Amino acid sequence: MTNKLQNVGKYIAPAVFLCVLGGLMWYQSHQHHGYYNSGYRSVMGTFAQVTVAAASEEQAHSFITAAFAEMDKVNRIMNDWDPNSEISQLTQTAYPEPKVVSPELFEVIAASVEYSKLSEGAFDITVGPETQLWRQMQKTGQKPSPEALTTARAKVGYEKVTLNPAEKTVQFAVEGMKLDVGAIAKGYAVDIAMEAMRTQGAVAGMVDLGGNVRCFGPGPAGGNWYIGLRDPRHTEKTLIKLRLNEMAVATSGDYERYAVVDGQPQSHILNPKTSESVKELASVTIIAPTAMQADALSTAVSVLGKEKGLALIEKIPGVEAIVMTSAQPDQRIETPGAKQFIEMD
Ligand code: AMP
Ligand code: MG
Repeated sequence: MTNKLQNVGKYIAPAVFLCVLGGLMWYQSHQHHGYYNSGYRSVMGTFAQVTVAAASEEQAHSFITAAFAEMDKVNRIMNDWDPNSEISQLTQTAYPEPKVVSPELFEVIAASVEYSKLSEGAFDITVGPETQLWRQMQKTGQKPSPEALTTARAKVGYEKVTLNPAEKTVQFAVEGMKLDVGAIAKGYAVDIAMEAMRTQGAVAGMVDLGGNVRCFGPGPAGGNWYIGLRDPRHTEKTLIKLRLNEMAVATSGDYERYAVVDGQPQSHILNPKTSESVKELASVTIIAPTAMQADALSTAVSVLGKEKGLALIEKIPGVEAIVMTSAQPDQRIETPGAKQFIEMD
C-alpha cells in the first residue's frame, strides 16, 4: 500500500510540474497576442471586416491576407453579375449535358439543394431568372409582365438540378436555368475565410461580410465577441447586442436592398413559387454554428414567414432565430434558445 502510494507520488509531482509549465507556456504565447483589425474593405458587393488575434503585425497581416484571398476567390467563382464567372457560365454549359464545376461551387450548390429540401423550396438558388426580372424592376420601377414572370418561373426549381458528387457535375433539366447564390455565398465565404486563418495558426478571430459574421476563439472583450443587430426601421440604431462564441450570425432584411414600384418598397428576397417579394418579416436573424447555415436559413425564414419559419428553426438543433415583422418592427419574436445570446435590450 505504502509502496503503491509512493509510486503514484513519483508521477504526480512531474505531472503537476508539466501542467504548470504547459499553462505558463500557453500564457506566454497568448499574452503577446493583440487583436488586429483589417478595417472595412469592399468585397462581393458589400463590405468585409476581419479581426484576428496575432503575435505581431506581420502575423496579423498574413492571417488577414489569407482571409480576404478566400473571399475574393468566392467572388470570382460565384458573382452572377459577372458574365464570365463560373456560375454565370453554367447557364450556357450545364444544359443539356452535365458540366464539371470547381469543388467550391459544387459544395455551395449541394448545400443549397439541402436547404431547398429543408425549407420545401422557400430557399432556392435556381431563382436566378426571377431575380434577373427583379433587377430590371429595380432599374425601371415597373413590374415585369405576367408573361415574363411565367417564362422565368418555368426555369426555376431545385428539383430541376441534377448533381453528381463523385464527378462534381451539375446538370440543368431546362434550358436557360440560372443560379443565384446571393443568399448563401457570403456565409460560405466567411466560413472558408475563417478556416484559412485557422490553418495558418490563428487562435481567435472574427470575419464579417455584409452582416454575415462568424467568430472563433476568445474575443477581445473579456473573452467574448459582441455583435450588434440593427433596428430594421432605424438602421443607424443598434437594437440588441448578441454575445457569441464559436458561433455565426446572419441577418436578412427588407431594408438592405429593395426596388420601389408605385412608391412601395419591394424586397430583394422573392418567393420562388410566386415571384413576389416577401413582405411579412422586416428582419430575420439566425444564430447557427456556421455562417453558411445562418445565411441560407435567414433567407429561408424570410420567405417562409413568422409561423412556418420559426417552426422550421425550432426543429434544427443548435440554431436560433430572432425575427421582426413588418407590421410591428419594434417587437422582437425569438426562439426560446435565442435568449442566451442576447446581451442587452
Ligand atoms: P440574403 O441577403 O442572404 O437574404 O440573400 C438575398 C439574395 O438572395 C437576393 O438578393 C437574391 O439574389 C437571392 N434570393 C432572393 N430570393 C431567394 C430565395 N427565395 N432563395 C434563394 N435566394 C434568393
Ligand atoms: Mg442569406
